[in-house]
Amino acid sequence: MKNNCVFCAIAAGEIPCFKIYEDDLVLAYLDINPFSEGHALVIPKAHTTGLLDTSDETLAAVIARVKKVAGRIQKTLPCDGFNVLQNNGAAAGQTVPHLHFHVVPRRGDGAGEIAFANGKGDMDALKALAAKLAF
Ligand code: AMP
Ligand code: ZN
Repeated sequence: MKNNCVFCAIAAGEIPCFKIYEDDLVLAYLDINPFSEGHALVIPKAHTTGLLDTSDETLAAVIARVKKVAGRIQKTLPCDGFNVLQNNGAAAGQTVPHLHFHVVPRRGDGAGEIAFANGKGDMDALKALAAKLAF
């Protein structure tokens, strides 16, 4: 398998997929374990693992295709809204280490299901953290 990576193998045509969009740089296909009807993945054909090791040029190309794919899904199926998700690292739930954006159509199925279990923020701690992170 190319790069020992399932998404590289899909991009190379070595493994089949339910393709919905393709161009020189990007491929989009249906997730085989969909959260909802039309749940799609958008990947660059070139292998990178996540946001931080992908060039700005590639990211710009991929996010523009995410927009096209989401628009196509929203118009065709349709849906009430959609989530765009992109996991980085196993700790964040990434199971396939090839950059991909999820486009997840939503249809009044309960906004909590993809939401994080947020806690209420401590304003002083947030102020200090923003000062530490600011650049
Ligand atoms: P993530 O957890 O962000 O790494 O998501 C990986 C996604 O890829 C999961 O939602 C899987 O269902 C999906 N997936 C894994 N293998 C395939 C495949 N061969 N074709 C389509 N989707 C896949
Ligand atoms: Zn890959």
